Amino acid sequence: MSIQEYFVSLFKGIHSLIKGMAVTGKELVSPKVTEQYPENRATLQIPERFRATLTLVYDENGNHKCIACRTCERNCPNGTIHIDTRMVDLPNGKKKQKLDKYTYDLGSCTFCGLCVTTCPTNALEFSNDFEQAVFRREALVKQLNYLPEKDEPVPAPAPAPVDKTEEAKPVAPDEKPEEKAS
Ligand code: SF4
Ligand code: SF4
Repeated sequence: MSIQEYFVSLFKGIHSLIKGMAVTGKELVSPKVTEQYPENRATLQIPERFRATLTLVYDENGNHKCIACRTCERNCPNGTIHIDTRMVDLPNGKKKQKLDKYTYDLGSCTFCGLCVTTCPTNALEFSNDFEQAVFRREALVKQLNYLPEKDEPVPAPAPAPVDKTEEAKPVAPDEKPEEKAS
């Protein structure tokens, strides 16, 4: 190695060392981002779109929008969803298929979101409640329809039929309304 090559190599080494020390020094004074979980549970910020577990959406009256069409069950790529249905008699005499039990296995869910995006009634969503650890795998199997089903609304009574014979009945002369005095 010539003297010139020796000094070029030396300066390159020093330059590289300074560059590395600059990165280390910058990290030394920058704010720490380590989460002190679970001590900071009360102030922890979980992103809204984080997919932690599947849930049925309930409104303020305790109703969900699932119509038991099974689209989510068919679209789930790994059989995570199982839907049981039952037939109910409606007040108008017809029958309707309703959701009986919505079973979801969190342990086999890949959080692909296909069930949520293909549901025709927007009945599903992902909760960002990330604390889902359990001691037994069976505890990861959940029933999502946990509130009792509401009764079908009773249809309003039909208006009474108009008696056409009464309308067509001729008015007797003495029943004619008195003419107004001009
Ligand atoms: S959650 Fe949606 S897709 Fe699944 S059965 Fe109910 S209505 Fe159908
Ligand atoms: S997110 Fe994907 S894997 Fe999980 S239940 Fe829905 S369709 Fe199945």
